[in-house]
Amino acid sequence: MSLKAFLSRRVVTPRGIKAGGVLVQDGRILDVVPPDQLPAQISMKDFGDAAILPGLVDSHVHINEPGRTEWEGFRTATRAAAAGGYTLLVDMPLNCLPATTTVAALEAKRKAANRQCRVDWMAWGGVVSDNQEHIKGLATAGVPGFKCFLIHPGIDGFTMVTERELRAALPHVARTGLPLLVHAELPGPVEEATRQLAEADWSKYATYLQSRPDKAELSAIHLMISLCREYHFRLHIVHLATSQALDMLCAAKSEGLLASVETCPHYLHFSSDKIPDGQTLFKCAPPIRSRENCENLWQGLQEGVIDLVATDHSPCPPEMKRLVERNFRKAWGGISSLSLALPVMWTEASSRGFTLLDITRWMAEGPARLAGCTSRKGRIAKDFDADFVVFEPEAEFIVTEARLSYRHRVSPYLGERLRGVVKATYLRGICVFADGEYPGEPTGRELRR
Ligand SMILES: [Zn+2]
Repeated sequence: MSLKAFLSRRVVTPRGIKAGGVLVQDGRILDVVPPDQLPAQISMKDFGDAAILPGLVDSHVHINEPGRTEWEGFRTATRAAAAGGYTLLVDMPLNCLPATTTVAALEAKRKAANRQCRVDWMAWGGVVSDNQEHIKGLATAGVPGFKCFLIHPGIDGFTMVTERELRAALPHVARTGLPLLVHAELPGPVEEATRQLAEADWSKYATYLQSRPDKAELSAIHLMISLCREYHFRLHIVHLATSQALDMLCAAKSEGLLASVETCPHYLHFSSDKIPDGQTLFKCAPPIRSRENCENLWQGLQEGVIDLVATDHSPCPPEMKRLVERNFRKAWGGISSLSLALPVMWTEASSRGFTLLDITRWMAEGPARLAGCTSRKGRIAKDFDADFVVFEPEAEFIVTEARLSYRHRVSPYLGERLRGVVKATYLRGICVFADGEYPGEPTGRELRR
């Protein structure tokens, strides 16, 4: 492929935001040069004032294929990703059937994904109650790490792990050197709280929030930190919702434990005081907590205790949200935000004085590090894949169904005015999204560790 240059007055590189040209050849970044050092006579695309960011990496997505393609699927999830500025998705091992807990299941997923993907993807392996002997095989087959649940995941086909089962799995996980991603809520505090809410009104958000107390997250994180100390594996806490855990996580990191933390755009944007009763679109687990908690999570990001932001894009058919029944107990928990996460984060981050460099650290570099692909993804730098988002930081838009791009166009963000518009997305130098269209055939590939 011939040499091409992508120009902008704001190229976001690890060294700062500056005017320049990104030189691309054969899908890779050859160099980033100042505008006056561009070679003559090459094909150029000038984005002017629109910023060029590295393609975003989402390390927490439920694609649900094979088996529950009617919930989402590779075709629609990667289309929404391209529209949102993401160029790599890492799929969670559950909600698909079979769950990704064996190499055979991973192979079934690879077959399902074949030729459907607009962006690149990887698959986490699952750690469940009885698959310890599959952990090494999954690692060898190329998964970048593992995911487990300390509480029932709300769906059949993927079992939670008890402390005893975890202890059986952890030596295997540690030997792979790969991270273990943990849904950190313990069942005890949730069951106890839920028992006391037997007569409560489950159309109220407050009831749902009380049923999943901070304590469930805190006790789970406490357990995982002590197991991390004991078994020397890489611990990653997914979708942290309670800011009360930040001190404990900060201490664990200072102690030298290999622990990392993510939170999600919905915990950084919404707060419980603004969620109307009956609005089950806001249901996710752990739950969206108070306004003060939200501000403290921002503080955790600022201080680097929270390493990254992932979407936890978790769709379902709209009827499972029980929008007519308005029942938080029965509704599916999960918020889909692949195509909106960047504007949501930019709206909040820019109002707090953060820059596009911070966004890049949280949404590209951080997730790429977790997924073990820091030599190719997450940065605009020499030898990296030529994956970019062309982003207009000052533009604003209202969220409509047309903006969602995933299979089921339901969202708690509908009607909101957000800051920052994704104009185009490039995967290995090829345009995969521009102004609402998805040109060409799908060129996304699986990355194997
Ligand atoms: Zn999830």
